[in-house]
Amino acid sequence: MNYFDLHCDTISECYNKHQGLLVNSMQLNLEKGKNIKDWVQTYAIWIDDLLSDEGAYCYFEQVYEYFLKQMNELNTQISFCKSYGEMELALTKGKKVALLAIEGSRALGKKLERVEAFYNKGVRMMTLTWNGKTHVADGCMVENAGGLTYFGKQVIGKMEELGMLIDVSHLAEKGFWDVVRHTKKPFIATHSNSKAVCEHPRNLTDKQFQIFVERRGLVGVNYYPLFTNGTLQGDIEEILPHIDHFLELGGEDVIAMGSDFDGAKMPNNMKGIEDVGYFYQLLVKRYGEARADKFFFKNAQRFMYENL
Ligand SMILES: [Zn+2]
Repeated sequence: MNYFDLHCDTISECYNKHQGLLVNSMQLNLEKGKNIKDWVQTYAIWIDDLLSDEGAYCYFEQVYEYFLKQMNELNTQISFCKSYGEMELALTKGKKVALLAIEGSRALGKKLERVEAFYNKGVRMMTLTWNGKTHVADGCMVENAGGLTYFGKQVIGKMEELGMLIDVSHLAEKGFWDVVRHTKKPFIATHSNSKAVCEHPRNLTDKQFQIFVERRGLVGVNYYPLFTNGTLQGDIEEILPHIDHFLELGGEDVIAMGSDFDGAKMPNNMKGIEDVGYFYQLLVKRYGEARADKFFFKNAQRFMYENL
């Protein structure tokens, strides 16, 4: 089984708790995932909305240095990749792959040049917000949320130009439609489910999802029960109606995984990365092996081939 996961908060949690990536008390670590054949994991540096502009940048730098140190120490097992080519090469050598993301644009402050600075450090995906307000846009939990600011439009322009993937998870709906209007390339929602199945501001409407289908984008389904069934308890099976619904909307080539490991409470029968094999078997049983492989790996691989 291969596994491509578009979002986890493990590296931020490791930094906060002074633990490593190989063995730790987290939902995700390399040891627990060692039986996965080809494993590509996006590690997000999560930036709290409450930090000041400079505080946010400082925090990013600290977690980033920590991430680099981990990658260095574990370089026989995992490779920090910045392009599709690097990713494929690492997998051929039997290594796990790490991609780096930022969750929450506050680390930019109001400095457009930081988009390029982050790109040069290897950041390849960035959500435009977390739940609150930033200089770029309003997050989905802001009341009467607005769309992208003028600065926000500059930011997405720069991201497209550089090839940093725009991640609309957490973005309020107005901002989403601004992204649609002001971009040409496909973009992604790394960890979001269907609002038609579970009414939550973090989930995507059918109309939003259809944009991903039209543009050959990517949507990673989130394992967090609050976004699958609206409560804090549940089983991983409850994600299946979301996948069914996305399939009805023509999403066979768009559906991917966005676990939210170490950023959310997991379902009862999905303690962490060690349980994704069980989930894969569920998908095989329901959708057949070819489609299960698409959702677990190949759709994201295809997207990175086209866009990274
Ligand atoms: Zn998140």
